[in-house]
Amino acid sequence: MDCTKSTELFKKACEILPGGVNSPVRAFNAVGGSPVIIERAKGSRLFDVDGNSYIDYMGSWGTALVGHAHRNVIDTLKETLENGLSFGATHAKEFDLAEEILAAFPGMESIRFVSSGTEACMTAVRLARAYTKKDLIIKFDGHYHGHSDSLLVKAGSGLATLGIPASPGIPEAVSKYTISISFNDIKALEDVFARYKGQVAAVIFEPIVGNAGFIRPDVGFLNSLRDLCTENGSLLIFDEVMTGFRVAWGGVQTLYNIKADLSTLGKVIGGGMPLAALAGRREIMNHLAPAGNVYQAGTLSGNPVAVAAGLKTLQILKSEEKPYERLANNCEWLLRSFSDSACRYGIPLQVDFEGGMFGFSFSSKKIRNFSDTENIDFECFNFFFRKFLELGVYLPPSSYEACFMSLAHTKEDLEKTGEIFEKICKLRVS
Ligand SMILES: *Cc1c(COP(=O)(O)O)cnc(C)c1O
Repeated sequence: MDCTKSTELFKKACEILPGGVNSPVRAFNAVGGSPVIIERAKGSRLFDVDGNSYIDYMGSWGTALVGHAHRNVIDTLKETLENGLSFGATHAKEFDLAEEILAAFPGMESIRFVSSGTEACMTAVRLARAYTKKDLIIKFDGHYHGHSDSLLVKAGSGLATLGIPASPGIPEAVSKYTISISFNDIKALEDVFARYKGQVAAVIFEPIVGNAGFIRPDVGFLNSLRDLCTENGSLLIFDEVMTGFRVAWGGVQTLYNIKADLSTLGKVIGGGMPLAALAGRREIMNHLAPAGNVYQAGTLSGNPVAVAAGLKTLQILKSEEKPYERLANNCEWLLRSFSDSACRYGIPLQVDFEGGMFGFSFSSKKIRNFSDTENIDFECFNFFFRKFLELGVYLPPSSYEACFMSLAHTKEDLEKTGEIFEKICKLRVS
């Protein structure tokens, strides 16, 4: 594989962008080597500046659910662009997208659009604190909720990849109000609620974790979580920035039938444009300004181009026949192929998926929480990552990340990926 231009460009980028990137994991620090520089994306593929193409399972971190640059999305955007890029005032499509999303999530009555998942989670926490008049936030080790100060404690992939528990620059006076505990551990949850009785504003969590590998919640744990929040007058915030419309229409809360007080959304709802949201019961949401006094604002919030991309993406999803079943079948097929190969070559592998999101880790132990990631053979993942890239498959560049299937992935894409996995297994043991 020729990477001349990528390598050259990245070297230049490192001189003027910290680490050569605008978001840390893109630098390939975890997996080694120089990142490839992307020129364009179409369907299931990424194309780099040296003319290499990749079957893409990173999917712009899960935003590209219907595939990159879907014809209908692009056509809609072209029309939208003619009418102006940004108004800084309310427009009608905001209502259309709001209605579409509220209809998909039971119990969601009111929604505010923002530009990033970080903003959505940050505002959800502020709102929860104001609404409950309590200060403490509980989160789980390895769960990522964006990079706002309160939430950047034991926060998964980006930090874990760099081996840092929390970021410097966050005063202890701020981080002390965030308590991070082990996921899927009912006892730890009960203990923390008992210890900080009457002080917990909210629990925020990734209902299916995608920023510490792929981790599924235990049903019993989810039920305890819901009950403990209700008993203690704390809000339960589902961070579905990654999972919303990704694992199911209506997200994990619909799939597992657990009531959220507040939810955050992002990624898929913007269809590749900067768009995210927080949403929940009207009685809580109405504390946001100007209905209430909890302040939040954004120059580009509800941007017409982003809203048009998101709305069209959801409309495409609705028009497809059983899209989540198709995504799930494809994930299942691919993971079975991986498992069969790994088994043949005696390489321990854990796999799991839901809808269009999947994960695989080189571990002989099932991963149920962040401390289980100790059992992952990261060196093995890095070997696979580099070989995959060389052979034309782009994975998220860290074993702490989930992977993403899109509706544009074809049977040929999957078969090719499976063959390449088998080939790498052979290289690995030889
Ligand atoms: C991506 C992500 C965020 C942050 O969203 P940004 O748009 O990157 O700020 C928050 N929570 C989860 C679960 C995410 O996957």
